[in-house]
This record gives sequence, structure tokens and C-alpha cells, in this order.
Amino acid sequence: MDLLNTLVDKGLRRETPTRAEALAVLATTDDELLDVVAAAGKVRRHWFGRRVKLNYLVNLKSGLCPEDCSYCSQRLGSKADILKYTWLKPDEASQAAAAGLAGGAKRVCLVASGRGPTDRDVDRVSDTIKAIKEQNEDVEVCACLGLLSDGQAERLREAGADAYNHNLNTSESTYGEITTTHTYADRVDTVRKAHAAGLSACSGLIAGMGETDEDLVDVVFSLRELDPDSVPVNFLIPFEGTPLAKEWNLTPQRCLRILAMVRFVCPDVEVRIAGGREVHLRTMQPLALHLANSIFLGDYLTSEGQAGKADLEMIADAGFEVEGAGEVTLPEHRAGGCGSHAGGGACGSHDGAEAGCGSHEGGGCGSHEGGGVCGAAPASAPAPAASADEARPDLVAVRRRGAGTDLAPNA
Ligand code: SF4
Repeated sequence: MDLLNTLVDKGLRRETPTRAEALAVLATTDDELLDVVAAAGKVRRHWFGRRVKLNYLVNLKSGLCPEDCSYCSQRLGSKADILKYTWLKPDEASQAAAAGLAGGAKRVCLVASGRGPTDRDVDRVSDTIKAIKEQNEDVEVCACLGLLSDGQAERLREAGADAYNHNLNTSESTYGEITTTHTYADRVDTVRKAHAAGLSACSGLIAGMGETDEDLVDVVFSLRELDPDSVPVNFLIPFEGTPLAKEWNLTPQRCLRILAMVRFVCPDVEVRIAGGREVHLRTMQPLALHLANSIFLGDYLTSEGQAGKADLEMIADAGFEVEGAGEVTLPEHRAGGCGSHAGGGACGSHDGAEAGCGSHEGGGCGSHEGGGVCGAAPASAPAPAASADEARPDLVAVRRRGAGTDLAPNA
């Protein structure tokens, strides 16, 4: 396919694809899917080899949020039967982090529900970061605390935070349909504050909320412009008790196309499969490792993931290897201080698709668009893409172990 050859060439040169090319990836047929994965896999391997970075979520404060993000089980008015608790103490958070690190994670993501931290909250999180770093010198710590006020990013940086996560989640034009208590511009502002303070910016999206292909391409191009170092891709977990509970819009094939599109648009950035991996990719998870170079180990913020041991076995069985603490995640031209920090590079959740941070939750060719992007038109009509997922609420398991409980975490 000419489209895929073009995208591979551009990805290896870090050149931005056109919008038509990105849309064309999303419009590929199921017959073309393995070619799409193979092409995006070349770009992934060029910049990240076969390494998979493991990240570990610690939900410092769960539920009871005054914001109304409709995808989020922790939102105002959520009827989801999730764990609700206030701030973990630094030693409790450090203990939870230690479990993830022992399981092979190299980054710990400290997430708290809420619109944004007070200065006192920043103090608490600073103490937590110090407690974690005292025990594990090499660990990368990412904070995900919502919208930041002036000076807070600098304080977190001084306390030892390496990165800050805040997702854009969806396109600017549809943001108001998803959340009314803050704006897309507020989110962009926080990502910029984190970047300006020298924190590695982490910002991503949630797919499956009823958005169009154009919305997905819009948000990924906006991310490229913001230039985060890591981009978590959440697949909406439609929690019962939230407004998006009925939005089962994803198939494993659709998820793979979305990840491939993100890889082509943000070729040299840490692309992380975030919340919804098990629910929507299901048995196709190993194929997704050819596209993303990073996943969360174990559980998410308010839902349970597959066993940490199963994550590790999947990585080994698929022929990939867990990235070690001493290895630098990002390619040399982007790597700064910490393993995956930027230095002002290109693309990259306090949200709820459950990918932890991602969203404090968590969260073709065909010949369409751009006429003839695809190489040769098939002689017969291509098989249509698989239809949308049937609802699988049976796959959504509310987290009942780890942080905020007396039970051992999944790592
Ligand atoms: S995503 Fe974050 S800000 Fe929005 S409702 Fe959930 S916890 Fe609150």
C-alpha cells in the first residue's frame, strides 16, 4: 500500500503525516489490518526497539470529585460502585509503589481525583515523591493531580517529580460535550505549565466516547503540537453509573487502528496503551505491543487489570522485553534528564478512562479521504471493518485491592 510506505518513511524521518493520511489509517479494512500493524511496527521498532516500558498507577485519592467528566467513574454524581478514599499517607503510597516496582515497573504514576491540587495537596504529594525516591533512587515519578495553578509544577519538579500527566482526551470541538466544569483550554494550559517547569509532559486521549475519526485525528494532531514525551491512549471503560455507560463503540481492530494512527503521528514518542486495554483489545493485546512501547502493569485507578504476571508473560510471549530501570526510554534526540524526558521534543491523565492518569480514570486507506491514498484499489470490494463491540460490562471489574484497601495490590 502506498499509504503505508509513505507513513513508514515519514515516521522514520519524524515527519508529520497529513490529516488525510491519518484518517486513511482509521478507515482501513480488516483485510488490511495486519499490514497496518506491520507498518506502524516498523516505526515503533526504529525508535524503541522491542522494549516495553511498564508504568504503575497509585491512586492517591479516589472518587468524590467535584468535576463532571462524563467518562469518569470518580465524577460528581457517579453511581459507579468504586473505592472512595481520601489521600493516602506517603508511606502507604510508597508501599503501593514498591509493589509495582518489584513487578518490573520503572515509572510510578501518582494520581489524585479532583479539579486540581491545593498548595497543601502539593505538599502532601511532594512528601510522597520523596518517600518513594528514598526507597527507589532510579524510579521515574509522574504526578497526575488535575489542573495546575501557577508555581505548582515548579514545586513538584523541586520535590523530585520527573513528569506530569494531564490528558487532552478528545478534540477541542467536542470537549464541551464530555465535560462542562472545565475547558479544553484549561487542559492545554496545564500541559504547557508542566512542560515549562521542566517536567516531562505526558498527555493523551480517550477513544470510544462516541467521537468521529476527525475528532480522533484532531486530538492526536493537537498532542503532536503540544509535544508531550508520552501519549497514553485510553479506550473508554464504560462504567455502569456514568453517563457513558452505554458507549461500547470499540472493537479490538478499531483499537489497533487508533494505536497505529497515533504511532504514525507521534513516531518517536512513548505511546502507552492505557485504560481499557484488557476490556477492548482482549486477545489482541499482544499485537498492540507492535504499536505502543509502553503499558500499565496491573490495575488501573478504579478498575482491575489482568494479573501483573499475565502482562509479563504476554510481553515475553510476543517477543518483546521489559525495559530496564537503567535504559533510556526516549530516542537520544528527545531524551533529557529522566528516562523519558523531553528536551523540547514533539508529541506525547488526570482522567478516567482509567488509564490512570490518562484520564484520571481510567478511560484507510479504504480509499477514503484524500483520494487514492491507498495503493491499488482491490479488484473486489474490501471486507468491511468489524462492527462495533457488543457491550461487555462483564469485563469491567471494579478495583477492590491495592491502594485504599487491606488487600495486596496486583503487580
Ligand atoms: S477525570 Fe479527574 S477531574 Fe474529571 S471527574 Fe475524573 S477525577 Fe475528576
